Amino acid sequence: MTRKRKITILGSTGSIGDSTLSVLEFAADTGESAFEIEALTAHSNVEKLAAQAKKFNAKFVAIADETCGDALRAALSDVDVEIGAGAGAIEEAAERDADFVMAAIVGAAGLKPTLKAAARGADIALANKECLVCAGDVLTATIEKAGGRLLPVDSEHNAIFQVFDFDRPERVTKLILTASGGPFRTWKTEEMAVATPAQAVAHPNWSMGAKISVDSATLMNKGLELIEAAHIFPIDHQLIDVLVHPQSVIHSMVEYVDGSVLAQLGSPDMRTPIATTLAWPDRVPSPSAKLDFASVAKLTFEAPDLKRFPALRLAKESIDAGGIMPASLNASNEIAVAAFLAGKVKFLDIAAITEQVLESVAGTAGAAKVNTLEEALDADENARRLAEEAVAARAAA
Ligand code: NAD
Ligand code: MG
Repeated sequence: MTRKRKITILGSTGSIGDSTLSVLEFAADTGESAFEIEALTAHSNVEKLAAQAKKFNAKFVAIADETCGDALRAALSDVDVEIGAGAGAIEEAAERDADFVMAAIVGAAGLKPTLKAAARGADIALANKECLVCAGDVLTATIEKAGGRLLPVDSEHNAIFQVFDFDRPERVTKLILTASGGPFRTWKTEEMAVATPAQAVAHPNWSMGAKISVDSATLMNKGLELIEAAHIFPIDHQLIDVLVHPQSVIHSMVEYVDGSVLAQLGSPDMRTPIATTLAWPDRVPSPSAKLDFASVAKLTFEAPDLKRFPALRLAKESIDAGGIMPASLNASNEIAVAAFLAGKVKFLDIAAITEQVLESVAGTAGAAKVNTLEEALDADENARRLAEEAVAARAAA
Protein backbone atom coordinates (compact mmCIF):
# COMPACT_ATOMS: atom_id res chain seq x y z
CA MET A 1 0.00 0.00 0.00
CA THR A 2 1.47 3.32 -0.99
CA ARG A 3 -1.54 5.63 -0.85
CA LYS A 4 -1.90 7.71 2.30
CA ARG A 5 -5.23 6.77 3.77
CA LYS A 6 -7.42 9.12 5.73
CA ILE A 7 -8.66 7.38 8.84
CA THR A 8 -11.32 8.22 11.41
CA ILE A 9 -11.77 6.20 14.59
CA LEU A 10 -15.12 6.46 16.36
CA GLY A 11 -14.39 5.32 19.92
CA SER A 12 -10.61 5.75 19.70
CA THR A 13 -10.04 5.57 23.47
CA GLY A 14 -11.47 2.06 23.85
CA SER A 15 -9.89 -1.35 23.47
CA ILE A 16 -10.54 -1.56 19.70
CA GLY A 17 -9.56 2.10 19.26
CA ASP A 18 -6.21 1.47 20.98
CA SER A 19 -5.58 -1.65 18.91
CA THR A 20 -6.43 0.20 15.69
CA LEU A 21 -3.92 2.95 16.43
CA SER A 22 -1.27 0.37 17.29
CA VAL A 23 -1.84 -1.50 13.99
CA LEU A 24 -1.67 1.76 12.02
CA GLU A 25 1.59 2.74 13.72
CA PHE A 26 3.09 -0.69 13.19
CA ALA A 27 2.18 -0.82 9.50
CA ALA A 28 3.51 2.71 8.96
CA ASP A 29 6.77 1.84 10.76
CA THR A 30 7.33 -1.10 8.42
CA GLY A 31 6.98 1.35 5.51
CA GLU A 32 4.11 -0.69 4.06
CA SER A 33 1.32 1.74 4.74
CA ALA A 34 0.92 5.48 5.19
CA PHE A 35 -2.00 7.08 6.96
CA GLU A 36 -3.28 10.31 8.43
CA ILE A 37 -5.86 10.67 11.15
CA GLU A 38 -8.86 12.76 10.21
CA ALA A 39 -10.91 12.43 13.41
CA LEU A 40 -10.86 10.70 16.80
CA THR A 41 -13.76 10.47 19.26
CA ALA A 42 -14.43 9.39 22.83
CA HIS A 43 -17.19 9.41 25.40
CA SER A 44 -15.53 11.23 28.33
CA ASN A 45 -11.86 10.30 28.63
CA VAL A 46 -10.42 13.77 27.99
CA GLU A 47 -6.85 12.97 28.92
CA LYS A 48 -6.55 9.95 26.67
CA LEU A 49 -8.31 11.58 23.72
CA ALA A 50 -6.08 14.66 23.98
CA ALA A 51 -2.92 12.52 24.13
CA GLN A 52 -4.04 10.54 21.05
CA ALA A 53 -4.90 13.74 19.18
CA LYS A 54 -1.43 15.14 19.83
CA LYS A 55 0.44 11.96 19.06
CA PHE A 56 -1.40 11.27 15.80
CA ASN A 57 -1.94 14.85 14.68
CA ALA A 58 -5.71 14.48 14.39
CA LYS A 59 -7.53 17.21 12.46
CA PHE A 60 -10.73 16.92 14.51
CA VAL A 61 -11.58 15.46 17.92
CA ALA A 62 -15.02 15.01 19.45
CA ILE A 63 -16.10 14.13 22.96
CA ALA A 64 -19.64 12.82 23.44
CA ASP A 65 -20.10 14.07 26.99
CA GLU A 66 -20.77 17.78 26.52
CA THR A 67 -19.60 18.63 30.03
CA CYS A 68 -16.08 17.52 29.03
CA GLY A 69 -15.84 20.03 26.16
CA ASP A 70 -14.05 22.78 28.10
CA ALA A 71 -11.52 20.37 29.60
CA LEU A 72 -10.76 18.99 26.14
CA ARG A 73 -10.31 22.50 24.71
CA ALA A 74 -7.96 23.35 27.58
CA ALA A 75 -5.95 20.15 27.13
CA LEU A 76 -5.50 20.91 23.42
CA SER A 77 -5.08 24.69 23.63
CA ASP A 78 -1.51 24.49 22.33
CA VAL A 79 -2.35 22.38 19.25
CA ASP A 80 -3.93 23.15 15.90
CA VAL A 81 -6.97 20.88 16.04
CA GLU A 82 -10.72 21.41 15.67
CA ILE A 83 -12.74 20.32 18.69
CA GLY A 84 -16.38 19.36 19.16
CA ALA A 85 -18.47 18.27 22.14
CA GLY A 86 -21.81 16.47 22.44
CA ALA A 87 -23.46 13.63 20.52
CA GLY A 88 -23.75 15.88 17.43
CA ALA A 89 -19.98 16.33 17.38
CA ILE A 90 -19.49 12.56 17.14
CA GLU A 91 -21.72 12.59 14.06
CA GLU A 92 -19.74 15.52 12.68
CA ALA A 93 -16.56 13.46 13.11
CA ALA A 94 -18.16 10.64 11.13
CA GLU A 95 -19.15 13.01 8.35
CA ARG A 96 -15.65 14.36 7.82
CA ASP A 97 -13.71 13.27 4.80
CA ALA A 98 -12.02 10.00 5.81
CA ASP A 99 -12.04 7.03 3.44
CA PHE A 100 -11.79 4.46 6.25
CA VAL A 101 -13.90 4.70 9.41
CA MET A 102 -13.36 2.34 12.32
CA ALA A 103 -16.73 2.04 14.09
CA ALA A 104 -15.57 1.16 17.61
CA ILE A 105 -18.08 2.87 19.87
CA VAL A 106 -19.73 0.43 22.26
CA GLY A 107 -23.50 0.00 22.11
CA ALA A 108 -26.33 1.44 20.04
CA ALA A 109 -24.84 4.90 20.74
CA GLY A 110 -22.63 4.14 17.74
CA LEU A 111 -25.54 3.75 15.33
CA LYS A 112 -26.12 7.35 14.19
CA PRO A 113 -22.45 8.24 13.63
CA THR A 114 -21.82 4.94 11.82
CA LEU A 115 -24.79 5.66 9.55
CA LYS A 116 -23.40 9.14 8.81
CA ALA A 117 -20.06 7.65 7.75
CA ALA A 118 -21.82 4.95 5.72
CA ALA A 119 -24.04 7.46 3.93
CA ARG A 120 -21.07 9.27 2.42
CA GLY A 121 -19.61 6.03 1.03
CA ALA A 122 -16.70 5.48 3.42
CA ASP A 123 -15.39 2.01 4.04
CA ILE A 124 -16.84 0.95 7.39
CA ALA A 125 -14.69 -1.30 9.55
CA LEU A 126 -17.36 -2.48 11.93
CA ALA A 127 -16.53 -3.50 15.49
CA ASN A 128 -19.70 -1.95 16.91
CA LYS A 129 -21.94 -5.03 16.50
CA GLU A 130 -24.78 -3.47 18.52
CA CYS A 131 -25.59 -1.05 15.69
CA LEU A 132 -26.14 -4.01 13.31
CA VAL A 133 -28.32 -5.76 15.89
CA CYS A 134 -30.35 -2.59 16.44
CA ALA A 135 -30.76 -1.55 12.79
CA GLY A 136 -28.94 -4.02 10.57
CA ASP A 137 -31.14 -3.64 7.50
CA VAL A 138 -30.92 0.15 7.64
CA LEU A 139 -27.14 0.14 8.01
CA THR A 140 -26.39 -2.46 5.32
CA ALA A 141 -28.76 -0.71 2.86
CA THR A 142 -27.06 2.63 3.56
CA ILE A 143 -23.60 1.19 2.96
CA GLU A 144 -24.72 -0.50 -0.25
CA LYS A 145 -26.48 2.58 -1.61
CA ALA A 146 -23.49 4.84 -0.98
CA GLY A 147 -21.02 2.33 -2.43
CA GLY A 148 -18.74 1.80 0.59
CA ARG A 149 -17.64 -1.55 1.94
CA LEU A 150 -18.63 -3.21 5.21
CA LEU A 151 -15.45 -4.77 6.60
CA PRO A 152 -16.21 -6.86 9.70
CA VAL A 153 -13.80 -6.40 12.61
CA ASP A 154 -15.44 -8.82 15.04
CA SER A 155 -13.01 -11.74 14.90
CA GLU A 156 -15.66 -14.35 13.98
CA HIS A 157 -17.13 -12.28 11.17
CA ASN A 158 -13.71 -11.24 9.98
CA ALA A 159 -12.78 -14.93 9.82
CA ILE A 160 -15.90 -15.83 7.83
CA PHE A 161 -15.41 -12.80 5.56
CA GLN A 162 -11.98 -14.16 4.61
CA VAL A 163 -13.29 -17.60 3.57
CA PHE A 164 -16.86 -16.93 2.41
CA ASP A 165 -17.48 -17.35 -1.32
CA PHE A 166 -19.55 -14.23 -2.00
CA ASP A 167 -19.85 -15.24 -5.68
CA ARG A 168 -21.51 -18.54 -4.80
CA PRO A 169 -23.37 -18.05 -1.51
CA GLU A 170 -25.77 -20.84 -2.49
CA ARG A 171 -22.87 -23.29 -2.09
CA VAL A 172 -22.53 -22.43 1.59
CA THR A 173 -24.39 -24.87 3.83
CA LYS A 174 -23.46 -23.54 7.26
CA LEU A 175 -21.60 -20.84 9.16
CA ILE A 176 -19.99 -22.00 12.39
CA LEU A 177 -19.42 -19.16 14.86
CA THR A 178 -16.88 -20.18 17.46
CA ALA A 179 -17.18 -18.99 21.06
CA SER A 180 -14.57 -19.18 23.81
CA GLY A 181 -17.33 -19.92 26.32
CA GLY A 182 -16.20 -16.98 28.46
CA PRO A 183 -14.99 -17.00 32.08
CA PHE A 184 -18.00 -19.01 33.35
CA ARG A 185 -17.90 -21.79 30.74
CA THR A 186 -17.56 -24.49 33.40
CA TRP A 187 -19.46 -22.75 36.21
CA LYS A 188 -22.71 -24.04 37.69
CA THR A 189 -25.74 -21.72 37.64
CA GLU A 190 -25.55 -21.40 41.48
CA GLU A 191 -21.97 -20.18 41.14
CA MET A 192 -22.89 -17.67 38.43
CA ALA A 193 -25.71 -16.41 40.70
CA VAL A 194 -23.07 -14.81 42.97
CA ALA A 195 -20.54 -13.84 40.28
CA THR A 196 -19.05 -10.38 40.73
CA PRO A 197 -18.38 -7.81 37.97
CA ALA A 198 -14.63 -8.38 38.42
CA GLN A 199 -15.08 -12.12 37.78
CA ALA A 200 -17.33 -11.48 34.78
CA VAL A 201 -14.90 -9.14 33.02
CA ALA A 202 -11.90 -11.44 33.54
CA HIS A 203 -11.99 -13.06 30.11
CA PRO A 204 -9.71 -16.09 29.71
CA ASN A 205 -8.45 -15.31 26.15
CA TRP A 206 -9.30 -11.78 25.05
CA SER A 207 -8.65 -8.36 26.56
CA MET A 208 -11.70 -6.18 25.82
CA GLY A 209 -13.94 -3.37 27.11
CA ALA A 210 -16.16 -4.07 30.13
CA LYS A 211 -19.49 -4.36 28.30
CA ILE A 212 -18.40 -6.93 25.71
CA SER A 213 -16.55 -8.85 28.45
CA VAL A 214 -19.79 -9.23 30.42
CA ASP A 215 -21.57 -10.17 27.16
CA SER A 216 -18.96 -12.90 26.70
CA ALA A 217 -19.65 -14.18 30.21
CA THR A 218 -23.43 -14.42 29.60
CA LEU A 219 -22.91 -15.62 25.98
CA MET A 220 -25.08 -12.70 24.87
CA ASN A 221 -22.03 -11.68 22.85
CA LYS A 222 -22.41 -14.81 20.73
CA GLY A 223 -26.15 -14.14 20.41
CA LEU A 224 -25.46 -10.60 19.18
CA GLU A 225 -22.86 -12.05 16.81
CA LEU A 226 -25.37 -14.52 15.40
CA ILE A 227 -27.66 -11.61 14.51
CA GLU A 228 -24.65 -9.64 13.23
CA ALA A 229 -23.64 -12.55 10.95
CA ALA A 230 -27.14 -12.80 9.50
CA HIS A 231 -26.86 -9.15 8.40
CA ILE A 232 -23.35 -9.38 6.97
CA PHE A 233 -23.52 -12.66 5.06
CA PRO A 234 -26.14 -13.68 2.48
CA ILE A 235 -27.34 -16.76 4.38
CA ASP A 236 -30.47 -17.79 6.27
CA HIS A 237 -29.95 -17.27 10.01
CA GLN A 238 -31.12 -20.84 10.63
CA LEU A 239 -27.88 -21.99 8.98
CA ILE A 240 -25.67 -20.24 11.53
CA ASP A 241 -24.41 -22.47 14.35
CA VAL A 242 -22.55 -21.63 17.54
CA LEU A 243 -19.73 -23.88 18.69
CA VAL A 244 -17.78 -23.49 21.92
CA HIS A 245 -14.04 -23.66 21.28
CA PRO A 246 -12.19 -22.65 24.47
CA GLN A 247 -8.76 -22.03 22.89
CA SER A 248 -10.04 -19.22 20.57
CA VAL A 249 -7.65 -20.26 17.80
CA ILE A 250 -10.20 -21.05 15.07
CA HIS A 251 -12.06 -17.76 14.75
CA SER A 252 -15.00 -19.23 12.79
CA MET A 253 -15.75 -21.53 9.85
CA VAL A 254 -17.74 -21.85 6.65
CA GLU A 255 -19.08 -25.23 5.56
CA TYR A 256 -19.69 -25.83 1.82
CA VAL A 257 -22.04 -28.17 -0.01
CA ASP A 258 -19.22 -30.62 -0.88
CA GLY A 259 -18.33 -31.09 2.79
CA SER A 260 -15.33 -28.75 2.78
CA VAL A 261 -14.99 -26.57 5.87
CA LEU A 262 -12.85 -23.42 5.53
CA ALA A 263 -11.59 -21.68 8.64
CA GLN A 264 -9.43 -18.72 9.59
CA LEU A 265 -7.02 -19.23 12.49
CA GLY A 266 -4.79 -16.94 14.50
CA SER A 267 -3.76 -15.98 18.00
CA PRO A 268 -6.58 -14.32 19.95
CA ASP A 269 -5.51 -10.74 19.23
CA MET A 270 -7.87 -8.18 17.67
CA ARG A 271 -4.93 -6.52 15.92
CA THR A 272 -5.07 -9.30 13.31
CA PRO A 273 -8.69 -8.75 12.16
CA ILE A 274 -8.17 -4.97 12.41
CA ALA A 275 -5.13 -5.23 10.11
CA THR A 276 -7.19 -7.33 7.70
CA THR A 277 -9.85 -4.63 7.42
CA LEU A 278 -7.26 -1.89 6.96
CA ALA A 279 -5.58 -3.55 4.01
CA TRP A 280 -8.31 -5.73 2.48
CA PRO A 281 -7.97 -7.38 -0.02
CA ASP A 282 -4.24 -6.76 0.45
CA ARG A 283 -2.40 -7.67 3.68
CA VAL A 284 -0.19 -5.58 5.96
CA PRO A 285 2.08 -6.72 8.79
CA SER A 286 0.48 -6.53 12.24
CA PRO A 287 2.06 -6.58 15.70
CA SER A 288 0.08 -9.62 16.86
CA ALA A 289 1.91 -12.79 17.79
CA LYS A 290 2.01 -15.53 15.15
CA LEU A 291 0.32 -18.79 16.08
CA ASP A 292 2.56 -21.45 17.60
CA PHE A 293 0.66 -24.67 16.94
CA ALA A 294 2.98 -26.85 19.01
CA SER A 295 2.38 -24.77 22.11
CA VAL A 296 -1.38 -24.61 21.47
CA ALA A 297 -1.17 -28.43 21.17
CA LYS A 298 -4.87 -29.14 21.35
CA LEU A 299 -8.07 -27.68 19.91
CA THR A 300 -11.33 -28.74 21.57
CA PHE A 301 -15.02 -28.16 20.84
CA GLU A 302 -18.32 -28.49 22.69
CA ALA A 303 -21.95 -27.51 22.16
CA PRO A 304 -23.16 -24.36 23.97
CA ASP A 305 -25.40 -24.94 27.01
CA LEU A 306 -28.54 -22.84 26.47
CA LYS A 307 -29.85 -23.74 29.94
CA ARG A 308 -26.92 -22.24 31.81
CA PHE A 309 -26.60 -19.43 29.26
CA PRO A 310 -30.18 -18.31 28.50
CA ALA A 311 -28.97 -15.08 26.83
CA LEU A 312 -27.94 -17.07 23.75
CA ARG A 313 -31.41 -18.64 23.60
CA LEU A 314 -33.01 -15.18 23.86
CA ALA A 315 -30.92 -13.92 20.95
CA LYS A 316 -31.94 -16.92 18.83
CA GLU A 317 -35.60 -16.34 19.69
CA SER A 318 -35.24 -12.64 18.83
CA ILE A 319 -33.86 -13.25 15.38
CA ASP A 320 -36.51 -15.91 14.74
CA ALA A 321 -39.20 -13.39 15.68
CA GLY A 322 -37.54 -10.57 13.70
CA GLY A 323 -38.98 -7.04 13.57
CA ILE A 324 -38.16 -4.99 16.65
CA MET A 325 -37.14 -7.97 18.79
CA PRO A 326 -33.35 -7.87 18.09
CA ALA A 327 -33.24 -4.09 18.76
CA SER A 328 -35.21 -4.66 21.97
CA LEU A 329 -32.89 -7.51 23.03
CA ASN A 330 -29.84 -5.33 22.50
CA ALA A 331 -31.18 -2.27 24.30
CA SER A 332 -32.40 -4.26 27.26
CA ASN A 333 -29.09 -6.09 27.53
CA GLU A 334 -27.16 -2.80 27.46
CA ILE A 335 -29.19 -1.47 30.40
CA ALA A 336 -28.97 -4.73 32.35
CA VAL A 337 -25.19 -5.05 31.83
CA ALA A 338 -24.64 -1.44 32.95
CA ALA A 339 -26.76 -2.13 36.05
CA PHE A 340 -24.75 -5.29 36.79
CA LEU A 341 -21.44 -3.42 36.41
CA ALA A 342 -22.81 -0.71 38.74
CA GLY A 343 -23.65 -3.35 41.37
CA LYS A 344 -27.42 -2.76 41.11
CA VAL A 345 -28.43 -6.24 39.90
CA LYS A 346 -26.97 -9.76 39.97
CA PHE A 347 -25.29 -11.57 37.09
CA LEU A 348 -28.27 -13.86 36.36
CA ASP A 349 -30.57 -10.82 36.35
CA ILE A 350 -29.01 -9.69 33.05
CA ALA A 351 -30.71 -12.41 31.02
CA ALA A 352 -33.78 -12.43 33.29
CA ILE A 353 -34.39 -8.70 32.76
CA THR A 354 -33.87 -9.06 29.02
CA GLU A 355 -36.31 -11.97 28.87
CA GLN A 356 -38.88 -9.97 30.83
CA VAL A 357 -38.51 -6.99 28.46
CA LEU A 358 -38.78 -9.20 25.37
CA GLU A 359 -41.95 -10.83 26.69
CA SER A 360 -43.48 -7.45 27.32
CA VAL A 361 -42.46 -6.11 23.89
CA ALA A 362 -43.73 -9.23 22.12
CA GLY A 363 -47.08 -8.80 23.84
CA THR A 364 -47.54 -5.18 22.78
CA ALA A 365 -45.64 -4.44 19.56
CA GLY A 366 -44.06 -7.75 18.60
CA ALA A 367 -45.08 -7.61 14.97
CA ALA A 368 -43.68 -4.11 14.38
CA LYS A 369 -41.01 -3.85 11.70
CA VAL A 370 -37.72 -1.99 11.54
CA ASN A 371 -37.45 -0.40 8.11
CA THR A 372 -36.17 3.01 9.16
CA LEU A 373 -33.74 4.50 11.64
CA GLU A 374 -36.65 6.07 13.53
CA GLU A 375 -38.34 2.67 13.98
CA ALA A 376 -35.09 1.19 15.30
CA LEU A 377 -34.55 4.09 17.69
CA ASP A 378 -38.16 3.86 18.94
CA ALA A 379 -37.75 0.15 19.68
CA ASP A 380 -34.40 0.84 21.35
CA GLU A 381 -35.83 3.62 23.52
CA ASN A 382 -38.90 1.63 24.54
CA ALA A 383 -36.86 -1.42 25.56
CA ARG A 384 -34.41 0.77 27.51
CA ARG A 385 -37.31 2.24 29.48
CA LEU A 386 -38.76 -1.20 30.25
CA ALA A 387 -35.34 -2.51 31.25
CA GLU A 388 -34.71 0.50 33.54
CA GLU A 389 -38.05 -0.25 35.25
CA ALA A 390 -37.06 -3.90 35.68
CA VAL A 391 -33.68 -2.87 37.12
CA ALA A 392 -35.36 -0.47 39.57
CA ALA A 393 -37.81 -3.17 40.66
CA ARG A 394 -35.00 -5.64 41.31
CA ALA A 395 -32.78 -3.09 43.05
CA ALA A 396 -35.70 -2.21 45.37
CA ALA A 397 -36.54 -5.86 46.13
P1 NAD B 1 -14.53 0.00 25.10
O1 NAD B 1 -15.50 0.19 26.20
O2 NAD B 1 -13.13 -0.35 25.43
O3 NAD B 1 -14.50 1.33 24.19
C1 NAD B 1 -15.66 1.96 23.75
C2 NAD B 1 -15.37 3.28 23.05
O4 NAD B 1 -16.63 3.91 22.76
C3 NAD B 1 -14.57 4.27 23.91
O5 NAD B 1 -13.74 5.05 23.08
C4 NAD B 1 -15.67 5.15 24.52
O6 NAD B 1 -15.19 6.43 24.87
C5 NAD B 1 -16.67 5.20 23.38
N1 NAD B 1 -18.06 5.42 23.84
C6 NAD B 1 -18.71 4.76 24.82
N2 NAD B 1 -19.96 5.22 24.95
C7 NAD B 1 -20.11 6.21 24.05
C8 NAD B 1 -21.18 7.07 23.70
N3 NAD B 1 -22.36 7.04 24.35
N4 NAD B 1 -20.97 7.97 22.71
C9 NAD B 1 -19.80 8.04 22.06
N5 NAD B 1 -18.76 7.25 22.35
C10 NAD B 1 -18.91 6.33 23.32
O7 NAD B 1 -15.16 -1.08 24.11
P2 NAD B 1 -14.40 -2.06 23.09
O8 NAD B 1 -14.06 -3.32 23.78
O9 NAD B 1 -13.35 -1.32 22.36
O10 NAD B 1 -15.59 -2.40 22.10
C11 NAD B 1 -16.06 -1.49 21.12
C12 NAD B 1 -17.02 -2.20 20.20
O11 NAD B 1 -16.30 -3.23 19.50
C13 NAD B 1 -18.17 -2.91 20.92
O12 NAD B 1 -19.32 -2.84 20.13
C14 NAD B 1 -17.70 -4.34 21.01
O13 NAD B 1 -18.76 -5.27 21.05
C15 NAD B 1 -16.92 -4.49 19.72
N6 NAD B 1 -15.87 -5.53 19.75
C16 NAD B 1 -14.85 -5.42 20.63
C17 NAD B 1 -13.87 -6.41 20.68
C18 NAD B 1 -12.70 -6.29 21.62
O14 NAD B 1 -11.82 -7.16 21.58
N7 NAD B 1 -12.60 -5.28 22.46
C19 NAD B 1 -13.96 -7.52 19.84
C20 NAD B 1 -15.03 -7.59 18.94
C21 NAD B 1 -15.98 -6.59 18.90
MG1 MG C 1 -16.40 -11.64 18.47
